[in-house]
Amino acid sequence: MNNKPIYVTQPYLPPIEEFVPYLEQIWQNKVLTNGGPMHQQLEKELAEYLGVNQVVLFNNGTNALLTALQALDLSGEVITTPYSFVATTNSLVWNNLTPVFVDIDPVTLNLDPAKIEAAISEKTTAIMPVHCYGNSCDVQAIQAIADKHGLKVLYDAAHAFGVQDESGSILLHGDLSVLSFHATKVFSTFEGGAIICHDEATKQRINQLKNFGIIDEVTINDAGINGKMSEVNAAFGLLQLKHIQTALAARKVVDEFYREHLAKIPGINILTSTAESVRNYSYFPVLVTEKYPLSRDELYEKLKQNNVFARRYFYPLISHFPMYSGLSSANAKNLIVAEDATKKVLCLPIFPGMSEDDVKKVILNIMDGAL
Ligand SMILES: *Cc1c(COP(=O)(O)O)cnc(C)c1O
Repeated sequence: MNNKPIYVTQPYLPPIEEFVPYLEQIWQNKVLTNGGPMHQQLEKELAEYLGVNQVVLFNNGTNALLTALQALDLSGEVITTPYSFVATTNSLVWNNLTPVFVDIDPVTLNLDPAKIEAAISEKTTAIMPVHCYGNSCDVQAIQAIADKHGLKVLYDAAHAFGVQDESGSILLHGDLSVLSFHATKVFSTFEGGAIICHDEATKQRINQLKNFGIIDEVTINDAGINGKMSEVNAAFGLLQLKHIQTALAARKVVDEFYREHLAKIPGINILTSTAESVRNYSYFPVLVTEKYPLSRDELYEKLKQNNVFARRYFYPLISHFPMYSGLSSANAKNLIVAEDATKKVLCLPIFPGMSEDDVKKVILNIMDGAL
């Protein structure tokens, strides 16, 4: 077997010839950004593909999160998960909001609704859960708590492109959801993101906030930001969308191969979520438990020595980073499930162009560690 490095992900790139006509069109249009034709077309096609009402494109997911929090007009404290990428919590702090960490559910590794109410105070204004790995949060339970306490719900849905539950897109839940189209995500525009909202008025407000707060040539009412996606990124999104079914189908093959072969290895627990009717196979997380002879970090190193670059998503917990570790909600006693998961989790390589030989190589390495 060859020994070229296998990374946790690799972007899906359609044939470059297919991208050239889009660039020629941009050169003809002479519109490079500011909500040009490619941008408008992508918002329309994404809304149709995802089955949502309104899509507002952004130049990255983090700016989309920052702007979504602005649009919800929040103050005080926001309940969130420590088990995510750091951008989730950073976006709260950039909005002068105080993150309050709540523990996760041991099966989905998403915010545990049973623990949310105890963390609500007079200052709480919102809940910001993450659909981690594209696995759906308990959206019904979260909404019930939000309704009872008059809280907004903003989903960090950076991993959840195209995921559906029995009621349709999981992006339909909550007040707003945010997608990331970063190079490492299932659907990419190199850098990019979007806010999903439910009505035209909210879209208009977000459009103003993402464009410096500009209303018209002489009117600016908000301290907005520059969150606009360029025409080149939007054009790439249109092309990616033509290939998305192929890309997702290829991921599914890898996912199924892993499931079949890893299920036999004692101590390797495959994370399984059942709330979705359509999944996106964005990550392949396993928990390396006590029944496996190596610790998670030992397996991670072993794979690395064999040129397999699995990643510890999410380790460390956000609550372990120095800017957050002083918060009372960051106390490990408050986050028992998250503290356990962060020590055991390993995300295995999964991407559309991953060869069967490469998937086998990862599996054989893990089997070898079990001997
Ligand atoms: C990728 C990611 C983000 C940030 O998105 P960018 O497009 O990279 O800014 C936010 N939250 C989560 C959970 C992510 O995985």
